[in-house]
Amino acid sequence: MKAQACEMAIIGAGYCGLSAAIELAGQGFGVRVFERGEWAGNASAFNFGSVAAMPPALPNRDAQGSQGADAQQRLRAVLEPISELKRQIDTFEYDCQWRQPGHITLAMDDDAARTLKQRHAEASALFGGGVHWLDARQVSAQTAAQGVVAGLLNEHFALIDPAGLLLAMRNHAQALGVRIDYSSPVLALDPQADSVNLQLPAARVNAARVLIASEEAWGLCTEAALQPLTMFQTHLCESQVLGARDLQLVSRRARVYGTATADKDYFRVHHGRLLFGSRLGLVPLDASPQAVVAALQARLAGYFPSLAAIPVARVWSGSLGFTDNGLPRLGASGPVSWGGGYCGSGIATAVQCGRQLARLATEAGVTTGSQPMQSRQR
Ligand SMILES: Cc1cc2nc3c(=O)[nH]c(=O)nc-3n(C[C@H](O)[C@H](O)[C@H](O)COP(=O)(O)OP(=O)(O)OC[C@H]3O[C@@H](n4cnc5c(N)ncnc54)[C@H](O)[C@@H]3O)c2cc1C
Repeated sequence: MKAQACEMAIIGAGYCGLSAAIELAGQGFGVRVFERGEWAGNASAFNFGSVAAMPPALPNRDAQGSQGADAQQRLRAVLEPISELKRQIDTFEYDCQWRQPGHITLAMDDDAARTLKQRHAEASALFGGGVHWLDARQVSAQTAAQGVVAGLLNEHFALIDPAGLLLAMRNHAQALGVRIDYSSPVLALDPQADSVNLQLPAARVNAARVLIASEEAWGLCTEAALQPLTMFQTHLCESQVLGARDLQLVSRRARVYGTATADKDYFRVHHGRLLFGSRLGLVPLDASPQAVVAALQARLAGYFPSLAAIPVARVWSGSLGFTDNGLPRLGASGPVSWGGGYCGSGIATAVQCGRQLARLATEAGVTTGSQPMQSRQR
């Protein structure tokens, strides 16, 4: 089989891959993106849509959280991509409904309250305002949620329409001449002297550079420098369109769109439907969609008992890649580069990572190993 040729091959058509494609096509490179799914099948198409200016809560850390320089570095790793994303949304007029409603995180028991209090201390030291501690009565008055011990109001928080952002980025990439091959899984990479062969089910493509823009596809690369990610399942349900009473209950105040115990559960109203989800060890990896729905509904009922039997239109599970220090990773070896480890803040961070991957791919003779993603230096 004769190999097709291309300059830049990108694996994955999520935020990261499309961001890299836009950057490279803008510089005049010939770009092909290979996506194994139909466009709507990935994390970038169906996520919670929260762009949260808070360092990620690391699952492997204790309730003391992180201190000093480390916390500041992690905060920078979250804040920079958010302002970069907002700049792109404004520059290219991406229609993704960016708005800043603020976000209340709930503590439903004393352990969660202790964790939250630590995060409040950390965040207020870093932000110097915009993060407020709420007692139980205040939270209940604002959200109508029951059984709450305490809460944290984060005003540095934005919501988007995730599929809207992905669609806008796809249109932008295609307008720049990027070719996106859907239903095209890359099965293997075969590095050559100064290029890489990509094996697809019915074709072979030879590319001068390959960008791995999916944490799941890191397995295609045998590099020792790839730092292993800890993957956590996260689950999301979308209800049918809410009636007026339920709608009022969930979005009682405009700024209250999410809740969580120790950052594990979340809900919001989106296009008149309730999105509710949870992270970390909620149900086994091989659980059926029905089991996921039942587990989510049980958790939701803990906040809003009257929503226990809410009819669900759609359920979805995906994984989040965490690094040990909460900083995303970027790496390259010869013609292959990779990025990931967004620690739950993938909307903004994957977009920024894509741009940095593009920059890495255009550097000649790259051998950098895998590094925490650095600030953009241009
Ligand atoms: C349920 C859920 C809720 C989330 N909520 C939020 C949130 O509120 N805020 C936030 O900031 N982040 C959130 N995230 C994380 C965020 O969605 C992701 O980090 C982000 O979308 C990652 O973008 P990406 O482009 O790296 O990956 P993806 O969107 O996963 O795109 C990678 C693509 O690569 C494709 N692919 C993989 N392997 C191959 C292969 N071998 N060949 C071809 N294609 C391949 C996949 O099909 C996929 O489409 C959530 C994630 C999930 C799962």
